[in-house]
Amino acid sequence: MSPRGWALLTLAGLGVAVLVAVLVLIPWSRPPAPRADQLAALRELPADQVERARQFRSALRPGGWAALGVGLLVALALGLTPLGGRLIELAGRPFGDHWIAQAVLGGLAVVLVADLVTLPLAAWRHAVLTRYGLATNGWSGWALDLLKSYAVSAVIGAVALLGFYTVVRLAPRWWWAFGAAGAATLVVLLSFVLPVLVEPVFNRFSPMEPGPLRTQLMELAARDGVPVRDVLVADASRRTRAVNAYVSGLGPTRRVVVYDNLLREATPAEVTAVVAHELGHASDRDVPVGTLIGALGAAAAVVALYLVGSWPPLLRLAGLDSVAQPKAFPLLLALVTVAGLVLTPVQALMSRRVEARADAHALALTGDPAAFESMQRRLAAVNLADPDPPRWEYLYSASHPSTVERIAAARAYARKAVP
Ligand SMILES: [Zn+2]
Repeated sequence: MSPRGWALLTLAGLGVAVLVAVLVLIPWSRPPAPRADQLAALRELPADQVERARQFRSALRPGGWAALGVGLLVALALGLTPLGGRLIELAGRPFGDHWIAQAVLGGLAVVLVADLVTLPLAAWRHAVLTRYGLATNGWSGWALDLLKSYAVSAVIGAVALLGFYTVVRLAPRWWWAFGAAGAATLVVLLSFVLPVLVEPVFNRFSPMEPGPLRTQLMELAARDGVPVRDVLVADASRRTRAVNAYVSGLGPTRRVVVYDNLLREATPAEVTAVVAHELGHASDRDVPVGTLIGALGAAAAVVALYLVGSWPPLLRLAGLDSVAQPKAFPLLLALVTVAGLVLTPVQALMSRRVEARADAHALALTGDPAAFESMQRRLAAVNLADPDPPRWEYLYSASHPSTVERIAAARAYARKAVP
């Protein structure tokens, strides 16, 4: 069988593996709370707060969709015409057209161009966040964050590009197989090191101050069978007023992080509800599961890129002889961008299911639906979340159930708990 035949077979195998993992590991059988309960919850929220959140979201919306559209157009313009390939050649020219310069500098240049074109829209977004009082870091803080994120992406991108094109040169016929294994490994590695290497670039993390709340949270974790060494507090207030918490990392790098804003704004019972939700993610192994699905997906993506990218009409459009040359990177990036836009609603749907399960875990663990509900109200109020966002936007990109869904779920739990 030819490498192409093996690639088709591998892609089919990976496709089945992704599908099985998604079907088995994502909690699909969890119907949302009845719509009538959601609407009742919506009616009880302060009307002026809902109105202000909707104004804020409407102000963000045009820039957000424009950034997606412009990003797509730029990716297509660079990938489906000889333009991107020329940019790669240009980046390699001062270095005698060496393949490493083309692969790494050229690749990063293409990504940077795509980022710079949407920079005005990112600035607009920051202006809206500032106008509504959510961003607290000013323009210098925003610019510094931006430069840091470019630097982090450049380091990760350079490693990935150098590794990928080294493999392509060493195994011209089978690079897709090694590339797939490499992409999966990179996903696992990143999941492991992001909390210790990347997150500290943007925030300072300190163990939560000893006190009754910390003791209570550690006891909660122990009772849940998810021992945590510490609850970490992030200095999120340096850039935002928003309140949040999350779990990240794998094994020894796993941590529960709460924003300092949350400790300042919320009552101890509400903080407990938030941490109980995060413990739900830990106890259901949502980070390892996400990493596994991400790793399988990344491997499948490399094989699919090889197969689709070798399609002669595409190569002709981009003015290429082969998908394996560094000049073909813009074509690969265009295909990845399109796939990303198509897969966004699928990822959002899976995320909402996982988040709903963590909510159910929090309710069962604390047995305190009232605190859970007031925490949801506070999250919506402080973060200016539309408690019941437009359906199409929710379906396309919402990573969490809406505020009214979460409140209605808490009330359903309360009804069941108290007969
Ligand atoms: Zn969550």
